[in-house]
Amino acid sequence: MALKTGEQYLRSLESLNISAHILGRPTGELAGHGLVQPSRQAVAFTYDAAHDPATRDLFRVVSPLCQEEVNRFTHLHLSSQDLVNKVKMQRHCGASTGCCFQRCVGMDAANAVYSTTFDCDQKHGTSYHARFRDYWAWVQRQDLVVDGAMTDPKGDRGKRPKDQVDPDLFLRVKERRPGGVVISGAKLHQTGMLNSHEILVMPTMAMRPGEEAWAICCAVPVNAPGVRYIYGRQASDTRKLEADTLDVGNPVFGGQEVMTVFEDVFVPDERVFLDGEVEFSGTLVERFASYHRQSYGGCKVGVGDVLIGATALMARMNGVDKASHIREKIIEMNHLNETLYACGLACSHEGRPTAAGNYLVDLLLANVCKLNVTRLPYEIARLATDVAGGLLGTLPSAADLANPETSPYLLKYLAAQPDYQVLDRVKVLRLIENLTAGAGAVGYLIESMHGAGPPAAQRIMIERQAGMEAKVQKVKGLLSIA
Ligand code: SF4
Ligand code: FE
Repeated sequence: MALKTGEQYLRSLESLNISAHILGRPTGELAGHGLVQPSRQAVAFTYDAAHDPATRDLFRVVSPLCQEEVNRFTHLHLSSQDLVNKVKMQRHCGASTGCCFQRCVGMDAANAVYSTTFDCDQKHGTSYHARFRDYWAWVQRQDLVVDGAMTDPKGDRGKRPKDQVDPDLFLRVKERRPGGVVISGAKLHQTGMLNSHEILVMPTMAMRPGEEAWAICCAVPVNAPGVRYIYGRQASDTRKLEADTLDVGNPVFGGQEVMTVFEDVFVPDERVFLDGEVEFSGTLVERFASYHRQSYGGCKVGVGDVLIGATALMARMNGVDKASHIREKIIEMNHLNETLYACGLACSHEGRPTAAGNYLVDLLLANVCKLNVTRLPYEIARLATDVAGGLLGTLPSAADLANPETSPYLLKYLAAQPDYQVLDRVKVLRLIENLTAGAGAVGYLIESMHGAGPPAAQRIMIERQAGMEAKVQKVKGLLSIA
């Protein structure tokens, strides 16, 4: 099947007939909804880029799984160059949309499930890998968006899943029926869920013996009976519903996060890829998290490009671009952003094949990448706020700009460097506001902190992967210490 265009993708969502609760109300038709449409446009970009002559070679790859050319967002990485190309593709998407384009979670989940099911079958004689290969070949041929769903609500963080007051606080197998399982629970922070065709459910953490019911990985169509969606709020989100979208900042694209509830959802056996093999739940989580921590070395860098470009343009508009302290700050922003990119590329270059054949990133470097992502975008945003000036927090609205009574004052007193129009200066300020304090800051800052796990999770992995004993032995050898 030919790769979809953005337009074909948007049409394919309409036939799914999913609905959600948004701002307290059930919303039947999602297409064209002011809060949803920008996020759909961002995903549509990942489709159109596979048709753009300038980027089609980066976005297209022949998959041995389905023997066809597929969009790289559905690809199983077959070399370290594939891993590098993934990061390059993500930077391009981030720099072109200025937001989270949402399609990476399924790609990262698929690569983790592919190798983990193989390992599980080797040990337990299960047949998950063949099932997953069939499922994913179908996803590739249909050119679908898959939401990788990992984060459970987790309830009392001091208690294991089986000790929670409500066992649904970790998504679980509630019942077994002939031909499948019934799952119950929820997944929080689901990026791009309402823009997906499929959900790939994974366990949220390493389960232990006795926690088999919570060690479940399976695929569910987004419109499966029993699945409900509650839309996540973002700062300044209702600006997207205003007639004049100037105050939104990012006029076309946006991100999306949703709470997804699974209320007794039946999953047939052929869509189950892990069911009670507790020791592989940890492997799956570790691999998915590492792929997604690599992803941030691409996508956040691309959004950083937008913020840096907007800051540099703002400096020109203010007439301060030649000032040495401004140039220093922009150099620093680039230095920090390229540091993240270097981390994303490094963990990709050092990727190695798994037993299943697809490539896994270097775990240590992927976690170093993500730990830097929990910090450096905040510093980049701080510098952008510094350079942009206080107007970032006090700018009157688009409505005031349109009002004939107030407009002359705004045009007179917001004028700066004469080569630039006031309206354009307002656009750039709103974009910087979007990324540092508005809806875009969910993707650029909050998600940089918590997406793919908070900093503590990366520190644990760094401690595990750092090879400390070898370092100690090196010193002992150097100093002739027994
Ligand atoms: Fe992709 Fe980045 Fe959004 Fe995750 S945060 S889905 S890696 S764009
Ligand atoms: Fe994310």
